[in-house]
Parts: sequence; structure tokens; C-alpha cells
Amino acid sequence: MYELFRPRALKLDSGYVITCPSGKHARISDKEFLQFKRKNIGKELYHKLSKAGIIITNANKQAVVNAYRNSKQFHSPEIHEIEIGSLELSKRLAKFLSGIPSKRLKIVIRGDKPLEKLEAIKLLLKSLRHSVSLEIYSDMESMNKERLRILNKFKAKMVVPLPIKAGHWLTKIEVIGIPRVSAKILSTEFSGLKRIRLEPDLFENSKRYVKFWQALIESLVNTDIIELETLELYKKAVLGGQSLTCGAVINRLAYDSKGSIFPCYNAMLADEEFFKLGNIQSTYQELIKSQPVISMLKSEFAPNPACSKCAFSPYCENCVVDNFLEHGSPSPIAGARLCRIRKQQYEQIFKWAYGSTRISRMLKAWIKTKDL
Ligand code: SF4
Repeated sequence: MYELFRPRALKLDSGYVITCPSGKHARISDKEFLQFKRKNIGKELYHKLSKAGIIITNANKQAVVNAYRNSKQFHSPEIHEIEIGSLELSKRLAKFLSGIPSKRLKIVIRGDKPLEKLEAIKLLLKSLRHSVSLEIYSDMESMNKERLRILNKFKAKMVVPLPIKAGHWLTKIEVIGIPRVSAKILSTEFSGLKRIRLEPDLFENSKRYVKFWQALIESLVNTDIIELETLELYKKAVLGGQSLTCGAVINRLAYDSKGSIFPCYNAMLADEEFFKLGNIQSTYQELIKSQPVISMLKSEFAPNPACSKCAFSPYCENCVVDNFLEHGSPSPIAGARLCRIRKQQYEQIFKWAYGSTRISRMLKAWIKTKDL
């Protein structure tokens, strides 16, 4: 006896991947798919599907509930994207952040000339009781030895747009924007893998973006470069990471230099009143109970009938900003630009994951990389 857990099928070149709402999945052959469709499941297939949680039996019921619960966990926000401002603002921000129950925070400094505001960054970090990892977006123009020394002390990771001028000072790096993948990257402290992230401008045209993305991943075989967007999608889909939303409010918040709070940095740039959640004058506890936060979470988790049959809905992150800018509402709509991109990417990622090509091997190796 078994029940089906809202399964969705994705056709591969040979066989199918069946996914279910907890994000678990299993690959089955064409013959097994026919059995599955006719609800005439043999012993071997029964075992495979119950192990993956796609059919629910008395033996796996609790494990399926646990997997589903974990996939929808609400985290306190750990990523904080900050447009750094005055020393006074750093003090107030530290007070606000001290109300966050997480042990670890990732502080991401963005905005104009952050290297010239190191005093404000230092003050913020020193005032926090959390264990902190620091990431700074900078073109590195105003880097010098003293600033590098301070950044190294905080083990800062720099996010740098390409092309980088040879000889630039870098600590750990992540490179955004890809006019040229082969930029020369120097590293003072970090000799491991380099990371890149695709340039959001390419989102403008979904076909062009996906084509470029596929070619890029192909070109990374046998290099020491990791592409972060692909790694994140792969982790979510293949390793059952919980996504369902992009993480705005749930595990990230952004702050402008006046102390206003937004769901994420892109929401801050969107310059829409809709995305303003509050101000750091309040406490964190007051913020998370406030109406703007509740409305934002409702939009992020709004069930979308158009997605209900999509095999990728357990993994597909819903970008409230992208939705809002595209069709004036934060709720997702199937067929929107990000949907078109993600559908093609997830399909390709499952093909790689269940294949044995050079790219499949490269993605498996990326997953094992420490220090990402
Ligand atoms: S937005 Fe598109 S890709 Fe994402 S779950 Fe909905 S239909 Fe699938």
C-alpha cells in the first residue's frame, strides 16, 4: 500500500526524473515510467520510489514529513547586505543586528567606494557578538597595503567585477560580470579555486542568457573556476537544498546608508516603496512581526497554480523583485523571464546530474569543494 506525494515528471534523453514537493527525486527508466503511470509498480520500482519519498508508505512516512518540513524551514536572516555609511549608522546597525538569534552572520558590504569606509566597517564588525564572515563588493581601485592588511585580518572575501587589472590586490575573491572569463587573477592569501557569477544584465534575454550559460559551463571543464549560480542551482536541485524562495527576508536583509531595511539588495536598488520593510531604529523582533514583512513573506510563498505541475517547483526560487519589475506584482507567474531561464537551467542540470559527461564530473567535483 502506498500513496503518491504529488509527483511531477521530467523527460530526460533516456528515462525520466520524478520530483516531489519535498525536493526529493529519482531517476526511472522509460519502462518504469509506464508502470508508474499505470500504477502498476513492481518491487524494485516500489523500493526506489519509497526510498526517494515519492511514494509514501508506512515505513517512510516520518522521513517524508521530516524532509518536507526541512525544505520549508524559516531561518533567521543570516545574510546582511549593507550600503555602508557613517560611523553612527554602523553603531545603530550593530544594535539592530544584535537582536538576530543566529550564531553566524554573513556581512556583505555593497555600494559606493566601500574601501574608503573601512573605519565604519571595522566598527560594525567589532560591535557584533556573532561569528561573522565578511564579503565586500569593490572594483579595488582604492586598495592599498594598509587596507589589504585590515581586510586580511577580517578574512574578507572580495567580489570584483571583471576585467580585473593585473597586479590588483586581492584576498579571497569572487568575480562578477563576465566580459572575459580568462582574466588574470592574483591572490595574496587564497590559492584555491576561483569563483565567478554571471552578470545579471544577461537576464534581459532569456534565450541568450541560457545559451551563454551553457557555453560558459562547457568552457569551465578542466579549469579551476567555479560558477556560483550553477553550483547553487545544482545544490538545490540535486542535493535537495531548500529553496522555494530566493531567501529575501527569510535568510537575507539589506540596509541602505540611511538605515532603511529591504528584503535584499536588488529590492533596495528597485527604489519602490513596496520593498521598504522598516528602519534600523526598530528592533529585529519588531521588524519580523511587522505588516510589511508578513506581506512580503506571503508574496514569496504564494502558491502559484501555474507552477503546480512543474517538476522544478520544489527548487525554483521566486524572485519578488524580478516579478515586481516584470509584471507589477511580487507573486510569481509561470512563463515570466526568470521562469523561462530556470526551467531550461534545471532541465539541463538534471541531465548533467544523471549523466556521465565531463560536465557531470565537474559539477560533482564542485560540490565537494570546501571553503565555498
Ligand atoms: S516559475 Fe516556472 S520553472 Fe519555476 S516552478 Fe513555476 S513553472 Fe516551474
